[in-house]
Amino acid sequence: MKMTMDLHTHTTYSHGLGSIEDNVKEGIRKGLEAMAISDHGPGHLGFGIKPGALKQMRRELDALQEKYPQIKLYLGIEANILGRDGAIDVSEEDLGLLDYVLCGYHFGSKPGKWTRDLPVHLFNLLNRWTGGFEKKARALNTEATVNCLMNNRIDVLTHPGAKGPVDMLEVARAAEKAGTMLEINNSHGHLSEEELKICMLTKVRFIVGSDAHKPGDVGRYKEALKRIVQAGVPLERVANLKEGME
Ligand SMILES: [Zn+2]
Ligand SMILES: [Zn+2]
Repeated sequence: MKMTMDLHTHTTYSHGLGSIEDNVKEGIRKGLEAMAISDHGPGHLGFGIKPGALKQMRRELDALQEKYPQIKLYLGIEANILGRDGAIDVSEEDLGLLDYVLCGYHFGSKPGKWTRDLPVHLFNLLNRWTGGFEKKARALNTEATVNCLMNNRIDVLTHPGAKGPVDMLEVARAAEKAGTMLEINNSHGHLSEEELKICMLTKVRFIVGSDAHKPGDVGRYKEALKRIVQAGVPLERVANLKEGME
C-alpha cells in the first residue's frame, strides 16, 4: 500500500514541532507525491496561527516548491467550526491564499458569536467531563457541521466525531452533497470502523490524513488503514491510498 498525498500536517506556525521545510523533507523521504501544510486556523485560542501568518507561509512554501520540485506542495489550513451557523475562522482574503481548506471542530476555538455559539462548546465539555449531555451535544455538533459544509467550500472535514459526537449519517450525507471528503485520521481514532460503515451508506469520499504534529509522522497512514480494512472500505473511495510498494 502507498499513501500518495498527505493534506493534514502541522508545523511550528501552530503547535507542530517542525518547520515547513522539516515536514516537506519528511514527505519526500516517505515517497509522497504531494502534501499540504495545514496549521490550525486563527480562531483557536491555544494553537491558532497568528493573524497574517498565511501570507508568510505562502511565500515560504512557494520558495520551497522551487527547491523541491519532486513533490507537489499545497498550502492548506485546518479551519475551526466556530458555532451553530457553521461559520469558520478564515477570512475571504486568507481563503484566496489557500489551495485546500480542511476544517474540523476543536474545543479550544473561540465561538463566533458568544451567546449563540457558546452552547456548542459548553455541551461538548459537559459531555466530555461528565459522560452526560451526549444527546444535546450531538444535536448541536451536527447542526454546526452540516451548516459549515453547506455554507463554505470545505475540501476535507477533519476527524469527524473525534472532538464531540455527531449524527454521522447526517454529516456524511451533507458532505456527499457538498463534495467534501471525510478524513480518516491516523492520529485520532476517527472515523472509527463503525463510523466508516455508517458513512458507506452514502457515496461520500474519504481521505487519510496523518495529522502529523512532528515531522516524523508526516505520511503515516497505518492506523487509518487498519480501520479501512476492518470496515471494508473499497480503496477506490479513498482519495490518497493506492496499491503498490511503499
Ligand atoms: Zn484537528
Ligand atoms: Zn490537525
